[in-house]
Amino acid sequence: MPKVTLNGKELEVGPETTIIEAGDRLGIHIPRFCYHPHLSIDGNCRMCLVEIEGVQKLLPACATYVDHDMVVHTDTDAVKKAVKGVLEFLLVHHPIDCPICDQSGECYLQDYYMQFGLYKSRFPLKNKIHKAKVKDVGGDIVLDAERCVLCTRCMRFLREVTGTDELNIFGRGSHSEIDIYQDQLLRNRYTCNLADICPVGALTSKDFRFQCRVWYLKEGKSICTGCATGCNVFVHHHEGKVWRMMPRFNEQVNGPWMCDIGRFSYTAANDGRIEKPRSVEGEKSVVIDWDAAFYTANLKIGEVKRDFGAGAIAVIASPRSSNEELYLTKKLAFEIIRTPNLAFTPAVVADDYSDEILVSKDKTPNSRGAVELRIGPEDGGLDFDGILDAARQGKVKLLIVLGCCLGDLDGDEAGRVVSAVEYSINIAPNESAVSQASSLVLPSASFVERGGTFTNEAGRVQRFYRIFPPRIRAREDIRILADLGRRLGADWDYKNEEAVFDDMARSEPFFAGLVYRVIGENGSEAGGK
Ligand code: SF4
Ligand code: SF4
Repeated sequence: MPKVTLNGKELEVGPETTIIEAGDRLGIHIPRFCYHPHLSIDGNCRMCLVEIEGVQKLLPACATYVDHDMVVHTDTDAVKKAVKGVLEFLLVHHPIDCPICDQSGECYLQDYYMQFGLYKSRFPLKNKIHKAKVKDVGGDIVLDAERCVLCTRCMRFLREVTGTDELNIFGRGSHSEIDIYQDQLLRNRYTCNLADICPVGALTSKDFRFQCRVWYLKEGKSICTGCATGCNVFVHHHEGKVWRMMPRFNEQVNGPWMCDIGRFSYTAANDGRIEKPRSVEGEKSVVIDWDAAFYTANLKIGEVKRDFGAGAIAVIASPRSSNEELYLTKKLAFEIIRTPNLAFTPAVVADDYSDEILVSKDKTPNSRGAVELRIGPEDGGLDFDGILDAARQGKVKLLIVLGCCLGDLDGDEAGRVVSAVEYSINIAPNESAVSQASSLVLPSASFVERGGTFTNEAGRVQRFYRIFPPRIRAREDIRILADLGRRLGADWDYKNEEAVFDDMARSEPFFAGLVYRVIGENGSEAGGK
């Protein structure tokens, strides 16, 4: 295997490893604009020039493969002078508007200037060439061509990942400018990745522009709940509010990308939340405390069981619930309430768009988990459609709905179904027609306020994490279900989602062999593979 010595550190690498990749593996950052590990090599920016012993010229680390016993230096005077020269050239016509630039704080140009530049400009401000500024190019993207360093990352992304080829370089020399073709706006579903990969503030997100300075943001790991692909994401938050989501690399699932639909699904953690438990008393809905909520739920379930039997109760689980929440919901229905009527709301097809890149037709994160947990009626029980029909006919006397919707019923119809039932309980994070029509509403935590696992459509079990506590009076679903179960007589001592998961792995064949703590950041295939 070829061996490279980089700044005195040795590394053996496989064939066709570039010097920049070897540097990354050794923790030696070689400056780059055009190089991106998941796009083709272009070698246009010349920021990654390095000195190789025995070679007279500096060579680009991104486009030079490691050869046997190569000795490379990235920190010599010749390298520093070359990098400084490239930077000065790139900044000749740059607007230097860092104070109002959204990339400020995570900009390669800014960072490299502080590291290698620190010179006084030799080019008068008034002579700078001006280009398109604040141009809406479609999708979620605003273009500022003056900030562009013409690295072509964006063009290569649109050629190699989405295959839509919507950006190009127009003009010549100092007037070269990245742009769309005439009025052909970006129309692909992955435009926010352009803001992620643009190393400077030339392509920024309309959604995130001027919202929050990046140095205030904290980062947590999670899973996108936008569809059944289960892309791995970073959640960026500040003071109990989510400001943006960005893709987290997982070779098995989403690589380094995510779609725009999923990207904006974070808003559900901020907006339209159910803030407090509430109960309909007479004509009015009144806020109650959690103790009163559990007391009321227990009382009503007991009354219906006594007067009509457990068969008059139905439970509709949600494919937005975690595996652990679904498992507890099933136990609650079959073992504690003892109703055979259990269903899960089918995959929601609000937007039936799907593609070969990432987006699944199923716009829920855990339908596969619900299927594998066999969330459905026991013998003689009602399935999803059966529960809805029986509810409309007044045969269901008490309905428990987890989540904010009933399949793809529109809001009016979902509200009518719930209203037709004598008593209904909704456990959900967000307001909806279901919560508005329910007798008792229990606010649950959003996906960033609780932890657990989802099973994506390929059968990969992936953890999501409690990133910050609820800022409202919501509670984790696990806690709500476990407390409700205990009030109804269960001897459950589940302290958290880990305890539920490990119990589930012992009793549910699909999860056999998995251990919560060893699932790992990139998830595990069910069956312990
Ligand atoms: S817009 Fe950004 S990603 Fe595209 S060429 Fe310019 S600097 Fe590179
Ligand atoms: S493909 Fe699906 S899981 Fe991935 S980001 Fe888009 S909506 Fe989220």
